[in-house]
Amino acid sequence: MSLLDHLKSRIITDGPLSIADYMADCLLHPEFGYYTTRDPLGAQGDFITAPEISQMFGELIGLSLAQAWMDQDSPAPFSLAELGPGRGTLMGDVLRATRGVPGFHAALQLHLIEASPTLRAAQKDALADYPVTWSDHVADLPQQPLFLVANEFFDALPVRQFIRQDMGWAEKRVGLTDGALSFGLAEPTPQPALDHRLDDTKVGDLVEICTTAHPIMTEVCTRIATHGGAALVIDYGDWRSLGDTLQALRAHAPTDPLQDPGAADLTTHVDFEALTVAAAAANCAFSRITPQGIFLERLGITNRAQSLAAALSGDALENLIAAHRRLTHPQEMGNLFKVMGLFPKALTPPPGLDV
Ligand code: SAH
Repeated sequence: MSLLDHLKSRIITDGPLSIADYMADCLLHPEFGYYTTRDPLGAQGDFITAPEISQMFGELIGLSLAQAWMDQDSPAPFSLAELGPGRGTLMGDVLRATRGVPGFHAALQLHLIEASPTLRAAQKDALADYPVTWSDHVADLPQQPLFLVANEFFDALPVRQFIRQDMGWAEKRVGLTDGALSFGLAEPTPQPALDHRLDDTKVGDLVEICTTAHPIMTEVCTRIATHGGAALVIDYGDWRSLGDTLQALRAHAPTDPLQDPGAADLTTHVDFEALTVAAAAANCAFSRITPQGIFLERLGITNRAQSLAAALSGDALENLIAAHRRLTHPQEMGNLFKVMGLFPKALTPPPGLDV
């Protein structure tokens, strides 16, 4: 049995799948899912992320979170947590960069939210020097101050897609045509959850809703609002989603999302407005969404690059210069990726961000 066989038999038994159900099976099916079965990161894999490009990314995230912790009178104990930590590289850099922050390591309890057993094993190796608690769900995080980072996590969560019609919204689905997976549309139905999109869409426009992001944000934001803390959410996307952003990546190249399910990474652009709706409902403040390049420049990435450069020459120096450009330049990751901070009301956002 393959994932394709499994999807086909689901469609034959239950009818066409929502895009969200299709994504969920492709990414996290316990036996055949993309993340479940492999480490997809890096040059040999399908995509590369900011922490895998340079240590500077995680170092600056670490210092921003540690400063936010000090600004809140250094609460102890607290949870230092990450959603979807990949290979553990980002958290490794956070921990190394914060070693000199008085009391930070003594007070922290490390929590990683990770669904993939393969990536949990990689995280265990990367963070071998630290006691780590792994969980499947944010709801398992203790009720205590929470300092959290999520880089390229929300883009991996399944979305439903709807196309506006004269009467209601037609959900885009995955069904079968002549035995092969194909996209189709359900009959239009009213979607009260999309009422706020009636003003900025016209018939034929496609919008996406990530139904799992809201409860995850609620858990994170409730802890920050109640016990203190801060979160940095970094991802590609923008204030509001419009259009079909589902993309499949394999070996660093785009591919057809229906081809060879489970063998390619599937993502969508993050709708940051939807995240702020959940934050506001949980009584948690949020920063302006800020381009990654500006955020990293404000935190001093150029100074950090210069100090690392002093010890380098040849290819290593060229790589460092290329990494700095890749993380910050508006035509590379600098503008496409956005950063949003979450923090208790009446306080200021973590360094690098404003309101
Ligand atoms: N943050 C890392 C990895 C990004 S890839 C980096 O920047 O390099 C997405 C990560 O989220 C992977 O670790 C993946 O296994 C995890 N993930 C995806 N969906 C998840 C879910 N629903 N629950 C927990 N982890 C998830």
